[in-house]
Amino acid sequence: KPILRARNVSKVYRGDGVETWALRGVDLEIYPGEFTAIAGPSGSGKSTLLHLLGGLDLPTEGEVWLEETRLDRLNATERARVRLHKIGFVFQSYNLIPVLTALENAAFVLELRGAPRQERERRALEALEVLGVRALSHRRPNQLSGGQQQRVAVARALAARPQVVLADEPTANLDSRTGLALIEHMKRLNQEHGITFVFSTHDPRLLEHVRRTVHLEDGRVARVEEASV
Ligand code: ADP
Ligand code: ADP
Repeated sequence: KPILRARNVSKVYRGDGVETWALRGVDLEIYPGEFTAIAGPSGSGKSTLLHLLGGLDLPTEGEVWLEETRLDRLNATERARVRLHKIGFVFQSYNLIPVLTALENAAFVLELRGAPRQERERRALEALEVLGVRALSHRRPNQLSGGQQQRVAVARALAARPQVVLADEPTANLDSRTGLALIEHMKRLNQEHGITFVFSTHDPRLLEHVRRTVHLEDGRVARVEEASV
């Protein structure tokens, strides 16, 4: 059974008398343990799709399912609760909390879940270590480069060990070597711990390392590519 499912999903943004169809009739199923890239040019709807799958926003039409739960039928509080326990989200703009250190940021989801302090710190440090930024754990976001903030944001998503990690352009601010290392690391977590990953990218070079790529064009799924990586 799919862990995430979009059924005939459309999303329209309305503002200033302008209508933008960010997604049009998207059908997508993500199965547990899959490692999926969402590819497409800027403006093709990647961010919007990830936000809908993560319950951060609601579709205009269609259904979004997380396992047996229909996310688009839940209110914001209920969706936040589901997210807290099941989904790790890596935002394109990191969304780190400025007054907290890297360690406190990485531990934040676990804190919201009410995990004991020792466990929070242990898991957050592990995740920072894995992302190669443990030495920076006492710095605040404004003392970190863009790439370092991005890694802390990934560490925060991983520290809570969710079933699914949704990552919006997680390599956008990394040089190509570091970006590739991050994808390889996500792949290792996927293979060794069964964490399901869905990440977006507009960098075709990264797709060589991915088994399944969903290509978006103009808000539609143009094709799905299965490689033998
Ligand atoms: P991508 O992540 O592939 O760059 P997005 O999902 O960010 O694509 O955007 C898809 C389309 O929706 C674009 O035309 C974008 O300008 C528009 N869009 C995205 N977010 C908003 C918003 N909050 N308000 C209005 N239009 C938006
Ligand atoms: P434990 O909780 O006893 O450390 P696990 O089997 O949960 O055991 O994990 C073993 C190791 O795998 C951890 O020490 C950690 O380094 C790594 N690991 C597991 N899950 C994650 C995750 N979501 N993010 C980062 N690292 C992880």
